[in-house]
Amino acid sequence: MPEPFFDFTNKHVIVTGGANGIGRCVAEKFIDAGATVDIIDIDRQAGERIQARCVNLRFYHGDIAEKTTLEAFVSSQKCPVDCVINNACISKKGVLTGCAYEDFEYAQRVGVIAPYYLINLLYHKNLLAGMASVVNIASTRAFQSQPDTESYSAAKGGIIALTHSLSVSLSGIARVNAISPGWIETSGYHEGGAVTEWPEADRKQHPAGRIGAPEDVANMALYLCSDTAGFITGENIFVDGGMSKLMIYHNDQGWEWRRES
Ligand code: NAD
Repeated sequence: MPEPFFDFTNKHVIVTGGANGIGRCVAEKFIDAGATVDIIDIDRQAGERIQARCVNLRFYHGDIAEKTTLEAFVSSQKCPVDCVINNACISKKGVLTGCAYEDFEYAQRVGVIAPYYLINLLYHKNLLAGMASVVNIASTRAFQSQPDTESYSAAKGGIIALTHSLSVSLSGIARVNAISPGWIETSGYHEGGAVTEWPEADRKQHPAGRIGAPEDVANMALYLCSDTAGFITGENIFVDGGMSKLMIYHNDQGWEWRRES
């Protein structure tokens, strides 16, 4: 895919969950664009690997669901932060498999409370460089669902609302936007992962004709953090190849409903 040009020289960026997947792609793209990047991730091995490979990247090991971890991470920040990418999230499934109270709560701590508390800490410690940019990675699943996904969908709905709320509170201090990815094939950004060749049916259910790549999300994150997007705040941008816009009717355009066996 064509590479857009962004210059983040002398900019300081935080990426949560930056050791694998979309977060790793975002972190690497910011580094390529001249930034210094701090990632926080629960995966020590992957974090240490990317730190060893990338000059200008610092890895902090920890679980962002823990309040004290976020406090220690923010205390380790030595200079103002220009861009924050709230990327890490997990699913603990939902009602059909009996997602427990504690599991549901944990998904919200990772997916909504940590993004809120990280920004809250940076703001009150005067660590948001003016004009900073926050990008929250949401999901199309904030708006549509498969069965048994309540813990994840609720976290994603929460981060969408958090985005517009923060954009108003941080007026003049930071622009705050969300990206809602659809289906993104991330295996190329996991150690030893091989990118899957998906069948035509999977590709063609996207009006764009393909499955998404981490670069699709990362390029949008860099754009939203750049001065070119200086008039955009409080927004949620879908990066889903149009999949959430496609209406499906049984027996129309080759789509057929079949009962699951
Ligand atoms: P991933 O699982 O490949 O990577 C997530 C990273 O976050 C990992 O490095 C993991 O170790 C880290 N992480 C998880 N829990 C953590 C915690 N408690 N504390 C610190 N780090 C933690 O995920 P991904 O597919 O790259 O997704 C990245 C973001 O994009 C997530 O918010 C996800 O919900 C969103 N998203 C992904 C897709 C997709 O198809 N891949 C679609 C829509 C939205």
